[in-house]
Amino acid sequence: MGHSITDQFNRPLRDLRISVIDRCNFRCPYCMPDEQFSHTYQFLDKDQWLTFEEIFRLVRIFVSLGVEKVRLTGGEPLLRPHMDELVKNLSMIEGIKDLALTTNGSLLGGYAVQLKKAGLKRLTISLDSLDPQVFKTLSGAKGRVEQILDGIKVAEAVGFKQMKINAVIQRGVNDHTVLDLVRFFRGSGHTLRFIEYMDVGNQNHWDLTQVVPSREIIAKIHKIYPLESIGGTEGGGTSQRYRFIDGQEEIGFISSVSQPFCGTCNRLRLSADGKMYTCLFATQGTDLREHLRNGASDDFLAHLIRVVWMKREDRYSELRSQIHQTHRPMHKVEMYQIGG
Ligand code: SAM
Ligand code: SF4
Ligand code: SF4
Repeated sequence: MGHSITDQFNRPLRDLRISVIDRCNFRCPYCMPDEQFSHTYQFLDKDQWLTFEEIFRLVRIFVSLGVEKVRLTGGEPLLRPHMDELVKNLSMIEGIKDLALTTNGSLLGGYAVQLKKAGLKRLTISLDSLDPQVFKTLSGAKGRVEQILDGIKVAEAVGFKQMKINAVIQRGVNDHTVLDLVRFFRGSGHTLRFIEYMDVGNQNHWDLTQVVPSREIIAKIHKIYPLESIGGTEGGGTSQRYRFIDGQEEIGFISSVSQPFCGTCNRLRLSADGKMYTCLFATQGTDLREHLRNGASDDFLAHLIRVVWMKREDRYSELRSQIHQTHRPMHKVEMYQIGG
């Protein structure tokens, strides 16, 4: 492992999320609402994407600064051609303990084998509801539940174990379908995780009344399938872990709104065009691509990253209500640009 660097609140750098593409084949209303992302929307051009060589080079530098976990995301990462090549290259970097990918699952059936062969360790699949109509709405009429479940089956068959299934819950939209997901994934060997709907970006018209606090979901599940807390949180402390008392695996809750976890946040994000963001709610990134393409040395890049991390004092979720009270508009980065 590399030398640890810490930020203004003594948080080390451990976790890196890389968005490999800003495009998506879904139009989830909470992320890329159809009306704003029509066919005329200007996504990045291919030459604006970091190349695989550039990503590889940056990841090695990040690892030398303490990164141990790398997650590939998007947009929809499986829309980026030859993802298996990138995975293969990254899987050879010494010091990465965990290499994962988050996908909407729609193309997973076609790619699972090659991703596994390339050395991908873990998969997270987003699936907000099993109800066909609700799912249709939540994918912006682009996806079908069966397609995602088939993708999961293929991934199981090629050897991916203990996948994470992430569901973002919105009041009045899919909160009535929570128990179906629990019933379906209990006993499947995968870990279901419920995520509070967040005010990421500026496009989704978020408001607090749409957030279902995890404690409410936990209570609802507990009535039917008793749960017990297994304390502690995973690395970085994002998820509260529970298990079913009857012994059938784990279930997680990510409560970024009702119980923020900025205190332990060790995550850095890299957008497809090579901007580095120190918070999911950042208003500004640091352009690394410009330096890469102007011939910067590894030492220079490492120094730049170190300086940015050491200055970091982000804790948006802990300050959320204060920030909202000021009513000052903030131009935040969008979820599809940095991938959650
Ligand atoms: N397209 C891939 C997918 O959907 O899994 C990867 C990128 S997507 C931006 C990553 C995750 O962010 C998804 O699980 C999605 O549900 C979640 N997400 C997007 N917008 C969100 C929001 N406003 N609040 C909470 N989670 C959100
Ligand atoms: Fe696409 Fe993922 Fe955003 Fe949905 S959440 S629009 S699948 S990037
Ligand atoms: Fe980390 Fe920013 Fe989220 Fe806080 S709000 S947990 S600092 S990404």
